[in-house]
Amino acid sequence: MSSIQQNIQQITSQIESCEQKWGRARHSVQLLAVSKTKPVDAILAAIEAGQRRFGENYVQEGVEKTRFFSEHHQDIALEWHFIGPIQSNKSRLVAEHFDWVHTVDRDKIAQRLNDQRPPEKGPLQVLIQVNTSGESSKSGIDEADVLTLAQLISTLPNLTLRGLMSIPENVASYDVQRKAFEQLATLQRQLAQHYPDIDTLSMGMSGDMSAAIEAGSTMVRIGTAIFGERDYTRTK
Ligand SMILES: *Cc1c(COP(=O)(O)O)cnc(C)c1O
Repeated sequence: MSSIQQNIQQITSQIESCEQKWGRARHSVQLLAVSKTKPVDAILAAIEAGQRRFGENYVQEGVEKTRFFSEHHQDIALEWHFIGPIQSNKSRLVAEHFDWVHTVDRDKIAQRLNDQRPPEKGPLQVLIQVNTSGESSKSGIDEADVLTLAQLISTLPNLTLRGLMSIPENVASYDVQRKAFEQLATLQRQLAQHYPDIDTLSMGMSGDMSAAIEAGSTMVRIGTAIFGERDYTRTK
């Protein structure tokens, strides 16, 4: 068994023990394997371990991978999630090649993704990225503007709003991690009063997964703990 397969098994059992520890329903937290900068061989190893849901941050790299798998492994039903920042001149590629987008943070991007989504692919599943830490350098919409963006998305036929996503500041303190995640979970509950069908709270990475699950995450985005450290010199 490859180390990637072992890592997937280990993360899966860690997710299960977090679910138990925090009184969450079994299988209520899904694993998104973040494969950015990693070659298709690494993705194939994760597929061998049963993983089907993959996250990519860079448009060009992600599109190449989705094309590779739809050409060479049509028989395996994979789900591709775009989790990186979206520039408007790249939105068409995202709308055409991905199943989910976690990083919708402004009207213009929502509108473009809707207009550029090929109707035969069915609606794009979207999350609104929220800047819970309020830092100006971080991407994501301010909490106060979430409802307005959700209202726009709800009128767009080629997008389906599924919930919220955040990337809080990278801190070591468990309590600080949990508080940031609870902030997003509170916002999700408020949004659900208007949009009761939303079901996805994308939060938690390799370093803060447990706090995210305690606060109510339904999808953790794990890269390093599955695929190892990333070598950014290999990406453009
Ligand atoms: C890279 C990345 C991840 C994975 O981070 P790890 O710390 O490697 O698990 C998760 N979410 C987003 C948005 C990322 O860019």
